[in-house]
Amino acid sequence: MRQALIILGATGTIGVNTLDVVARHPERFRVVALTGFNQIDKLAEQCRRFQPRYAVVPDAQRAQALQQLLSGGQTEVLHGEAALEQVVALPEVDSVMAAIVGAAGLRPALAAARAGKRILLANKETLVMAGRFFMQAVREGGAILLPIDSEHNAVFQSLPANYDGDLARHGVRRILLTASGGPFRTRPVETLAAVTPEEAVAHPNWVMGKKISVDSATMMNKGLEVIEAHWLFNARPEQIEVVIHPQSIVHSMVEYLDGSVLAQLSHPDMRTPIAHALAYPERIEAGVPWLDLAKTGSLTFESPDTRRFPCLKLAFDALQADTTAPTVLNAANEEAVAAFLDRRIPYLAIPATLDHALQRLAGARADSLDDLVAIDQEARAIARDFIAKQ
Ligand code: NAD
Ligand code: MG
Repeated sequence: MRQALIILGATGTIGVNTLDVVARHPERFRVVALTGFNQIDKLAEQCRRFQPRYAVVPDAQRAQALQQLLSGGQTEVLHGEAALEQVVALPEVDSVMAAIVGAAGLRPALAAARAGKRILLANKETLVMAGRFFMQAVREGGAILLPIDSEHNAVFQSLPANYDGDLARHGVRRILLTASGGPFRTRPVETLAAVTPEEAVAHPNWVMGKKISVDSATMMNKGLEVIEAHWLFNARPEQIEVVIHPQSIVHSMVEYLDGSVLAQLSHPDMRTPIAHALAYPERIEAGVPWLDLAKTGSLTFESPDTRRFPCLKLAFDALQADTTAPTVLNAANEEAVAAFLDRRIPYLAIPATLDHALQRLAGARADSLDDLVAIDQEARAIARDFIAKQ
């Protein structure tokens, strides 16, 4: 039986890479639904090629546009957030690639968890915003969670196969997350004030969506990933260390009590973690060139400088606070990054916005998902106010 797959965010970088791997293995995978937000032409092209039963877009207008482009085809076009939640829960669906960017990915990912699907999780914001509730839904729904983020996929591969959420019992001392350091690793700190959006999205090793590219430049991406690792692997903040590795070949490591450090290495190409999760526990070809270490030459490592990357420290502090700080951090960051990309604020106003929102909402508690969503909204409003005054 072919694995029945839904790709949320099919038109994005992760979505496109997923379809690239899927297309290499038509005997293994069947696409049940594809979803997209803006690029309707691109989504139409993907639908023609992969013939999903459903396509989901945000509103009636775009649904009509897509329907027209697909006239006479097999694909039924649905629209709206509720449709996203409906398709992921369909009984015929085995696996859900959760690759929408930002907090918009939370509800459909939760619906997949509750429906007990195999979730290939790229959308790290889900775990940062609502890790406790999402992990609870995974447990209660009997879902299987496979990390797509390259670092977490590397950690997953470097942990014992029977890892059950107890690092100590498995002899793990620390999780070592690698970070490329982004485009500004060596740029003189005093010139960071003048960084442009074009410079920030030009990542040295990875081709990614704009939001995550800016997050990589500020190292907020690594901060989000520290919080993601906390929830995925049940690791305390002091059990997670970030190490800069500019070549992006070692995607992360697990350190054991006996001094062993296990790592996963590959080219910086998301098709490797995607193929790993798609086929897990088997292995399939991903279309990625073989790693030639002699050609790669040296692999180097260094400690991150939190003066250069204040967002990384904000994320560690938010996790340490054990309150709703990660939700606030994520919401304020989404607003700040959007404003920076729109040239409404300078680069250095990104950490300033996060700091401001975190201070304003310090100690806020949430007993339910609705409380968290309210805090997310409040943090966005506070961030937008602050941004308007820059
Ligand atoms: P992207 O911007 O390229 O694509 C985002 C996708 O989400 C698109 O298909 C878009 O149509 C859809 N989308 C955007 N807003 C939406 C909304 N409000 N409702 C529904 N759909 C919406 O982003 P990406 O680089 O593919 O990243 C996707 C996710 O994967 C992010 O959470 C990112 O952090 C994570 N991730 C990406 C990479 C990478 O290499 N690109 C690596 C690790 C993790
Ligand atoms: Mg990553």
